[in-house]
Amino acid sequence: MTITTKRAYNFNAGPSALPLEVLQKAQAELVDFKGTGMSVMELSHRSAAFEEVHNEAIARLRKLYEIPENYEVLFLQGGASLQFSMIPMNFLKEDQKASYIQTGAWSEKAFKEASLFGTPVLAASSKENNYKNIPALSDIQIDKESAYVHLTSNNTIFGTQWKAFPNTGDIPLIADMSSDILSKKVDVSNFAMIYAGAQKNLGPSGVTVVIIRKDLLESANSNIPTMLKYSTHSKNNSLYNTPPTFGIYMLGEVLKWMEDQGGLEVIEQRNEEKAKYIYDAIDNSNGFYFGHATEESRSLMNITFRVADEELEKKFLAEAKEAGFVGLNGHRSVGGCRASAYNAVPVETCLALSEFMVKFQQDNQ
Ligand SMILES: *Cc1c(COP(=O)(O)O)cnc(C)c1O
Repeated sequence: MTITTKRAYNFNAGPSALPLEVLQKAQAELVDFKGTGMSVMELSHRSAAFEEVHNEAIARLRKLYEIPENYEVLFLQGGASLQFSMIPMNFLKEDQKASYIQTGAWSEKAFKEASLFGTPVLAASSKENNYKNIPALSDIQIDKESAYVHLTSNNTIFGTQWKAFPNTGDIPLIADMSSDILSKKVDVSNFAMIYAGAQKNLGPSGVTVVIIRKDLLESANSNIPTMLKYSTHSKNNSLYNTPPTFGIYMLGEVLKWMEDQGGLEVIEQRNEEKAKYIYDAIDNSNGFYFGHATEESRSLMNITFRVADEELEKKFLAEAKEAGFVGLNGHRSVGGCRASAYNAVPVETCLALSEFMVKFQQDNQ
């Protein structure tokens, strides 16, 4: 592999950019993984070689995120979307309520699934405001009889992100962190469960990470299908059936890359720097560009914005594409523009977009 490898300015919302170093290592190991004469994809999931990959990935995640001992780390399939169903299936009973905080399309989907198993209630919602903001902590009303509280820590489509989380006391707090997991330090002990599809910040699609407190596992409903019980996977170290072995290997390599970068603190600082380049281009544009999210709720991961003039917005997206920027079209339900600057998106890519935005404004005003 040479340094002339062509790499796109990748702002895809998911699946999304992976670190070049990780791709190169995977390429180098692809046909002969550590002298086995096989690729990771060809190993038995019960082999010692794969077991090491699997357990190392779990150990790395525990260390990077400082996950306390009383939590399990699971690697599941079905994406974050299956978690929307598995959570109520395991933790909600027919006569019970669960509180949902609605901050975007993904939280709406989670809410909808819960209504199949019990009674989800809204603890707060920013829907009326077209999800421009995260509700103030003081506006969140948690039903005291809730089996759990669910929130989405980063709203991939609308570009908002929680900066501080509610204290739910004895009621388990469950967070969908699909689009900002491991982008910054988080106090895991605030949550009873955290889950995330890997394809935004952690690796390729196909693996779903679940971090779950052990006491929650014990309280789960039992009369549900084996594969949909968290306890099945925790009792079997996520090896009850064949796990997505190659995805787990890639996830482990991404976590190793994060360690090599200097860990979460460095990643967090870098993410702040990256987002700032782009938000600065918006804020210094005198209204030529404007953001979708309110300033206090802005996401460091998904930067959503518009070009004030609709015709110019089309031109902006066309010229950006021409210039090698990928994935800048906003989600089909929102329109406009979105730059997803996940962990593996290099600083230079964000700087390049910021410069492109400034230049485009100069040329088109
Ligand atoms: C992408 C995303 C999902 C859906 O993930 P899948 O793995 O495709 O099921 C759910 N929640 C959030 C916050 C997301 O960004």
